[in-house]
Amino acid sequence: MNLVCSECGRPAADDAMFCASCEGLLAFETFAAAPGADLDRDRIAARRNSGDPRDRSGVWRYRELLPAIPLEAIVTLREGDVPLYGAPLAAEYAGMRRLAYLHLGMNPTASFKDAGMTVAISRARVTGASVAICASTGNTSASLAAYAARARIAAVVLVPATGISASKVAQTLDYGATVIAIEGDFDAALRTVRAMDPQRVAIVNSVNPYRIEGQKTAAFVLLEQRRWRVPDWIVLPGGNLGNTSALGKGFREALALGWIDRLPRLAVVQASGAAPFSKAFREKTDLVPVHAETSATAIKIGAPASWKKARAEVAASLGTVLDVSDDEIADARAIIGRDGIGSEPASAATLAGLRRLVAEGTISSGDDVVLILTGHVLKDGAYAAAYHESAAPFANRILRGVDPAEVIDRLNAPA
Ligand SMILES: *Cc1c(COP(=O)(O)O)cnc(C)c1O
Ligand SMILES: [Zn+2]
Repeated sequence: MNLVCSECGRPAADDAMFCASCEGLLAFETFAAAPGADLDRDRIAARRNSGDPRDRSGVWRYRELLPAIPLEAIVTLREGDVPLYGAPLAAEYAGMRRLAYLHLGMNPTASFKDAGMTVAISRARVTGASVAICASTGNTSASLAAYAARARIAAVVLVPATGISASKVAQTLDYGATVIAIEGDFDAALRTVRAMDPQRVAIVNSVNPYRIEGQKTAAFVLLEQRRWRVPDWIVLPGGNLGNTSALGKGFREALALGWIDRLPRLAVVQASGAAPFSKAFREKTDLVPVHAETSATAIKIGAPASWKKARAEVAASLGTVLDVSDDEIADARAIIGRDGIGSEPASAATLAGLRRLVAEGTISSGDDVVLILTGHVLKDGAYAAAYHESAAPFANRILRGVDPAEVIDRLNAPA
């Protein structure tokens, strides 16, 4: 697989992080099978029954479609092999007949970042890096910290000093990373990381094309659980937009391999306070960075690095982009919880966005839709607790000073 500039198309050096000519993001070319290669989708999917952790990993069982990394260099926590769940209450809330969640929060560190990090850190090991770094709103740092610990590579993370989830920071500290709190937001932290010399430190933000290759496998893991039936729509949250570019690439490669016969349409949902991609899509202009403000901290990003790649994937899939308010996200997150599925706020932008798309007629009630839940509820327990203490419509307040027997009687009473 060749590494090229995603903007000017020039070939890139193996160890570069940005294009030497135009500073564009690098990308691996769309995977094309070598003549005679045995890429039977069901044979690959069946590896999940093997005892080898690299086969059980939803990422590494698709290793033929990934950049070449020696098997013994792979650092895996069995990421990627996540469940597809039915979403009956969320379906009703959005006005759909049926609906499903692909829960990427069921990864080892509880966000989808693991599917990319396993590839980025395995690659760092191949290059002999002794330090890896990222800028993070929390989940990338937790993921880097865990995989670096497994690989015995030192991890350094730059996080905004305020406005990130305490659970994510605690998780990162637990895995032994060096955490540096910086004045300024995620966008400032990422600028600092991008200016670093990739020869001295492995940069593992989603500007790293190895991350994208790992994350694209979520498309395959979704399809294998649906016996390769393609959904009409995939709805996912958009922050830095690496995941949009990754999923789009995964579906395009599945199509090129003949594993599926059409692409699902991608609907990318941003938080209204951090919606430069949504605005650019609506107004058909280039992206103009904004100062981001939203309580969905995982998508609190004003200058998304991968917007051009993401725009190409949305266009290729005939998809759409929209944004929803923090209140819509909060209520949608509570609804997802009542399906017995926990998610963090950024993930719930998907359900809030779907509800809008159904109301405006872009998606119809009979369509086959999958929501991509990106992070687990325990990633931001404080957010959930605050919601349930509030006067919000789906708040589930703690009862005090009541007789439990009376509560049972009430719950047993016919409706
Ligand atoms: C990182 C993250 C996002 C945003 O993904 P991008 O690739 O930056 O668009 C959304 N939700 C959660 C939970 C995340 O951790
Ligand atoms: Zn270039």
